[in-house]
Amino acid sequence: MDNKDKTIVVLGGGESGVGAAILAQKQGFKVFLSDAGSLKPKYVKELTDRDIPFEEGGHTENSIMSATEIIKSPGIPNTAPIVRKIQEKGIPIISEIEFAGRYVHSKTICVTGSNGKTTTASLIFHIMKSAGLNVGLGGNIGNSFARQVADERHDYYVLELSSFQLEDMHDFRANIAILLNITPDHLDRYDHDMQKYIDAKMRITQNQLGEDAFIYWAEDPIVTKEVEKLKSDAHKYTFDYRKIDDVSAYAEDEMVYINVPSSHFEMEKALLSLTGMHNLYNSLASGITAKLLDISDENLQRSLSDFQGVEHRLEKVAKVHGIQFINDSKATNVNSCWYALQGMKTKVVLILGGQDKGNDYTEIESLVKEKVKALVFLGKDNSKLHKFFDGKVETIVDTHAMDDAVREAYALAQDGDTVLLSPCCASFDLFQSYEDRGRQFKECVRKL
Ligand code: ADP
Repeated sequence: MDNKDKTIVVLGGGESGVGAAILAQKQGFKVFLSDAGSLKPKYVKELTDRDIPFEEGGHTENSIMSATEIIKSPGIPNTAPIVRKIQEKGIPIISEIEFAGRYVHSKTICVTGSNGKTTTASLIFHIMKSAGLNVGLGGNIGNSFARQVADERHDYYVLELSSFQLEDMHDFRANIAILLNITPDHLDRYDHDMQKYIDAKMRITQNQLGEDAFIYWAEDPIVTKEVEKLKSDAHKYTFDYRKIDDVSAYAEDEMVYINVPSSHFEMEKALLSLTGMHNLYNSLASGITAKLLDISDENLQRSLSDFQGVEHRLEKVAKVHGIQFINDSKATNVNSCWYALQGMKTKVVLILGGQDKGNDYTEIESLVKEKVKALVFLGKDNSKLHKFFDGKVETIVDTHAMDDAVREAYALAQDGDTVLLSPCCASFDLFQSYEDRGRQFKECVRKL
């Protein structure tokens, strides 16, 4: 069957869905995009300008069920009634990454993990671009992979992949796969079954060949167990904060070392632009990648030193009367907040809360007791937080809007303290997104 006789239905009209629709049209398929919510005006315009049929505010079952293949946006859960029906009928469901991967032969560098994906993918992209390589950055960041495959070709793509994208990937192959860590996240979408989430993450290694590379954290308790079961032939590289057996990249005596078969790299740890233990991991994983791509030591050292970081990830906002305000709005799970607290050198007033994702706060309990002088809860419903933290921290304040949260935190902090927004939760109860939450935080801080 020719492409023109096949219909691709795209579910979800965000950046990944619209990108997929554009690429499908370019490849000569019949295309229909359907979104149960409303589309952003810029996407409506784009689809209209390109004559791609679409609907919003609901799904027309007949049109969807006539698809040859469905491209599902990562935000749509498998429990959505329309997805259930598609599965019952046996229509193949793929992700936008899987689809776009069919139409390029470029090298792919794929980053996944529960935390650190955006930071690491952005850092690798920065290193490669600074070294003069023709590289695109996609996945969860910026322009979708499919859109780039349709409109601009690169020799390399750095892709940030969430577990949701990986779930619907079948034949896609990562030339370099990076799995930063696995800690509980999104369990609400995995029937509260951790193994299902782990299995989704491990899919990053599927289809890898002997000439490919798999980079992971040497001491991640979950990943190392999974690696034992792994059947892939890909060459394995590991990183850790210290020198342990067979580790490829590590820190020791204030230096950072990266060893791959073809080269040995070292630089002063203090020169890394990203700080904190978690960012050391991100830098080491990026460094292994760079050396596997034969990027010169000079280029690698320069890029690891001048990388600007990514907004909303431990972003220093301002110092007000000696109080440092830090925006870590992207800390949407408990583990990322753990790393934020772990890196704090002062007493902290912690702002946390939002839409709970099945969180267990035990992980941060001892760090909270050690470093946090006051907690400011910021959520529509703070009852779960109260249940866990009441009696464990002396001062707890309840707020339901960012300006209140910032004002309360400011009042509770003293010269030399840090006010940290590291919410452990999704933002959708009170904000449009974590970016919106982070921006509001910064605005409120600047108004103090
Ligand atoms: P992701 O894209 O996986 O959500 P980000 O780079 O956006 O990751 O960072 C999300 C949060 O996790 C931020 O709060 C950040 O400070 C923290 N973080 C970054 N890298 C790591 C890591 N390697 N391990 C744990 N937490 C991390």
